[in-house]
Amino acid sequence: MLNVVLFGPPGAGKGTQSEILREKYSLVHISTGDVFRMHIKGATELGTLAKSFMDRGELVPDEVTIGMLRAEVEKHHGAAGFIFDGFPRTSAQAAALDELLHSMNTSISGMVALEVNQEELIERLLNRAKTSGRADDADENIIRNRIAVYEKETSPVADYYKSHNKYFGVIGVGDIEKITQRLCDIIDRLK
Ligand code: ADP
Repeated sequence: MLNVVLFGPPGAGKGTQSEILREKYSLVHISTGDVFRMHIKGATELGTLAKSFMDRGELVPDEVTIGMLRAEVEKHHGAAGFIFDGFPRTSAQAAALDELLHSMNTSISGMVALEVNQEELIERLLNRAKTSGRADDADENIIRNRIAVYEKETSPVADYYKSHNKYFGVIGVGDIEKITQRLCDIIDRLK
């Protein structure tokens, strides 16, 4: 299997690139943010819980997120591989993902990380707010909180993959196609 973690701060372009990579490599794309938003739309219990954290730019608690991710993976028996977008976002989630994939006799092939500076991120998210309808995009204070949470809780996840020689950074600024090419150059070597 080809199992890729697409990593990067809020607004780095993970969703856009994941969709392109999903199609090119025939992978199942799991975006934890999208799954939570679907639950919010469907007004499920999980959605109500997730919303209270997401609207403030905080992370949804690990045990909730991990359980949800596990259920999503289990829906896709026989997949050629997965692209994880927005997961893992904490060290506990990274450990849980390893355990889950181990139980399926597979593992993470690599983490590819989109590197984008903070000013560009804020500009992109405020721009996205005009069309996304996402409360967490519309307010600069919430965006700054999301970036702060990323720095504190999520960026250490990169060190975890670095220590296993599975981290590959790419510059996430420029043409979408050029960024895709940078990602593919790495993923082709992971296959
Ligand atoms: P972004 O564009 O900020 O990367 P996402 O759509 O991936 O946004 O996620 C939006 C929100 O959903 C996050 O700010 C967080 O509240 C919640 N969320 C998504 N993935 C996770 C996760 N792995 N752990 C905890 N919370 C998450």
